[in-house]
Amino acid sequence: MAPTVSQSSILTARGLVKSYCKNRLEVPVLRGVDFDLKAGSLTAMVGRSGSGKSTLLHLLASLDQPDSGEIYFAGERIDSASRARRDAYRNREIGIIFQFYHLLPELTALENVLTPTMINRSAWSYFLGRHEARRRASELLERVGLSHRMHHKPRELSGGEMQRAAIARALMSEPKILLADEPTGNLDSQTGQQILGLLRQLHQDEGLTIAMVTHDDAVAAKADVIVRLENGQVAPADRAHASAA
Ligand code: ADP
Ligand code: MG
Repeated sequence: MAPTVSQSSILTARGLVKSYCKNRLEVPVLRGVDFDLKAGSLTAMVGRSGSGKSTLLHLLASLDQPDSGEIYFAGERIDSASRARRDAYRNREIGIIFQFYHLLPELTALENVLTPTMINRSAWSYFLGRHEARRRASELLERVGLSHRMHHKPRELSGGEMQRAAIARALMSEPKILLADEPTGNLDSQTGQQILGLLRQLHQDEGLTIAMVTHDDAVAAKADVIVRLENGQVAPADRAHASAA
């Protein structure tokens, strides 16, 4: 049965429950999370350390499965879909960036940006489209301000530059949604502000929907919507805004 959601929600979670086992003890993390990601919004997900922000983001990205509850992308149930559909959802409909960039160290920035295309296509289809793919990857690197570092490997890049490359890689499949887990968490505040500025620009200029986990209230205050995780659930909206102001 489809959930009751407003038309404007592109990603919807209903009653998400997730526990981890630690030393045979079950540790409940999410205890019934209801969440609507409004299409075209820049949404910040906040909450104290250990409140389950990354867990929720991983479930929304279908990197992990909930114990119970439902996830819908544009009205389509994702969490119980086939593995192939979940892979396609993760690789094509969404882009993901992490605090520690997760770039492949042996590849240049350009090659890192090309990896989603290599994964999403057969070898033959990649071969046929490789010039177009390289053109798009170069354009994206220019878009994130990294054209001068295209042929550099991650160890030759600063933290901010690595995050720019990771953002370009996340955009390679033209995703509808960008999910970001503490994208500024490993950067000094000035560099963090620049990365946040870039995300806001992508949101404004290209209408990209962004859900961004952060524990930094100054970062959250720049979002249109703030969702606070508390005691394994989403706190009422007024509290979310009050504490991030
Ligand atoms: P946040 O991102 O808000 O800091 P997390 O979602 O990373 O929180 O973690 C929530 C809780 O779940 C923490 O207590 C953490 O220790 C625990 N946890 C997260 N991932 C795992 C895992 N893979 N195995 C066991 N416990 C985990
Ligand atoms: Mg986290």
